[in-house]
Amino acid sequence: QKQQGYQVPRAEFALWREQPDLVYLDSAASCQVPDRVLQRFMRYYQHEHANAHRGAYPLAQQATQQLEHARSSLASWIGTDAEHLVFTAGATHSLNLLAQGLNIDWQAGDEIVISRAEHHANFLPWQRLAAQHQLKIRWLDLDPVTGALRSSWPELITPRCKLLAVTLASNVTGQIFPIAELCQRAAAMGALSIIDAAQAVGSVPLDVAALGCDALTFSAHKMYSVTGCGVLYLSDQMQQKLEPALLGGGMVARVGTDTSQWLSGVQKYEAGTPNTAAILACAEAAVWLTEQREQGLTPYLAELNITLAQQLAERDWIRVLPRQEPTLPVLSFYSPQVHAYDLASFLAEQGIAVRAGGHCAQPLLDYWQHEAVVRVSLAAYTTRADSERLLAALDQAYQLFAED
Ligand code: PMP
Repeated sequence: QKQQGYQVPRAEFALWREQPDLVYLDSAASCQVPDRVLQRFMRYYQHEHANAHRGAYPLAQQATQQLEHARSSLASWIGTDAEHLVFTAGATHSLNLLAQGLNIDWQAGDEIVISRAEHHANFLPWQRLAAQHQLKIRWLDLDPVTGALRSSWPELITPRCKLLAVTLASNVTGQIFPIAELCQRAAAMGALSIIDAAQAVGSVPLDVAALGCDALTFSAHKMYSVTGCGVLYLSDQMQQKLEPALLGGGMVARVGTDTSQWLSGVQKYEAGTPNTAAILACAEAAVWLTEQREQGLTPYLAELNITLAQQLAERDWIRVLPRQEPTLPVLSFYSPQVHAYDLASFLAEQGIAVRAGGHCAQPLLDYWQHEAVVRVSLAAYTTRADSERLLAALDQAYQLFAED
């Protein structure tokens, strides 16, 4: 399907070969996975499966090499090298490893700065840490009109700030935040910076060096790969401050009855058997995604995203949550007349997959006093016809529910 110079790769997804009429607008929750990524996963289990980093026999050595090759290629994909890249089970896992392992000499009243748009995964670990050490959480608020960070944000990052933990982009509104500026300000105040790129990874090329962060994480299932795999970048400075939260096989150099020594480098953060198949699939997905970007994915989705937001905003019974460029191809809306869950259920009956609810971002919804909003997210397989089907079905839903 040729759409404005970009060839939408639906033929590469079994789901659309089987259900050509499915309108899947929930990629912000999980992307669908192209054949090539699944084939990589299967190939590993069918022909290459052994426990990496454990055995001397050829199959095990090959598994180790493949895993380390995936580490190097994913590291270079995000602008770093293998010595700074840890594999985890996903962004939630990574953020908890950070919160539990950070060895900072906390003083009561020290501050952790987060944004109002954090996913619970980048809020709850800090909330608990703050309670344990009597720290203060400071919120970077969003402008209620533009949806961007309030311009006064630099004033909230002061020498009391020990840690900045922000999302690269809102998983609700799609708003992208000025991460390089935020990290620069944090570094100037002597704070470490952690970036949650879980939602952004499928849409924004990542470069940890350009962002200047100390840690960055994302989940593979939001970049057209399988679940159970995450990537965690750790700067040298962060590695010096981070104790391994998980202890066990694969991370120790020497085990004694009284004390033990961890391996040096990133390996000490990877206790237990790695999810090698998912890691290899993730590296394959990065190659696939880069190819899609070379073929024009980014401008294609940007255009689809802006047009859809405009078309929704033209309907006076729909309110799109505030956002301004740059944004991810993700947006949320509500209707004063029709409940978000009614809209989502009606859409589901029409074969249109969207998500309604709080989107694991309760602080943002509470702040804007919404109980639930409908979220629509676009990805490489989304067509203009999908957008049109969504709009037509929404109009039908309005007729049905609002005019009772
Ligand atoms: N942060 C953001 C911004 C997200 O959108 C998500 C997933 N919805 C997460 C963190 C958590 O990712 P996962 O569930 O894969 O650990």
